[in-house]
Amino acid sequence: MRIVLLGAPGSGKGTQAAMLKAERGVPHISTGDMLRAAVEAGTQFGRKAKSIMEAGDLVPDDVMLGIISDRLREDDAAEGFILDGFPRTERQALDLDELLDELAQPLDAAVLMDVDTDILMKRLTGRRTCSETGKLLNVYFSPPEELEACKQAGGELIQRDDDNEETIANRLAVYREPTEPLIDSYRKRGKLKRVNAEGSVDEVYERLLAAL
Ligand code: AMP
Repeated sequence: MRIVLLGAPGSGKGTQAAMLKAERGVPHISTGDMLRAAVEAGTQFGRKAKSIMEAGDLVPDDVMLGIISDRLREDDAAEGFILDGFPRTERQALDLDELLDELAQPLDAAVLMDVDTDILMKRLTGRRTCSETGKLLNVYFSPPEELEACKQAGGELIQRDDDNEETIANRLAVYREPTEPLIDSYRKRGKLKRVNAEGSVDEVYERLLAAL
């Protein structure tokens, strides 16, 4: 399986990709996670990426291509991959095509996780990770017992630095401008699959499996 997950921030790409990875055994390649790891490691590149990410802007295309090109050449990606958060611009999509041609690994599908804007805002402003268990939670949508379980495990609910309202507004604008047009280009090439990504995580996962 070689797929790209498309969708606005908060559309559930990361959650669904992690479930798909567990079931299908192909790597979940999240450029956001890779960048956050670089920020965490405090490398020179990480420091530059941090300010871009905090503003909700995009890291330059050439940098992203370097990162994804190295990652897709790793052994585990030879069996397939789930790309989450890449491509985000037309340039990145073209670069990805070239790279996959070179690796003789054509894309099976680009899957759009479709969610209404009001729901996106709640998903993003309410999103938290449990510091102890690593579980992704949401203060609006997670059952109270799951939020409580994090506390009981001695954890705290951590909010991503770029999940504040100001940055979120910019991330959604950046999604509408350079990223949303990709939906149409994949549709024209017959690669697009659309999944209704509203509802519970399990419901969405069922629809995703059906679409694939
Ligand atoms: P995400 O976790 O996918 O929402 O990504 C978090 C942030 O990382 C984004 O708001 C961007 O600043 C940066 N980022 C992730 N993927 C890309 C990409 N493909 N191109 C440019 N910037 C990216």
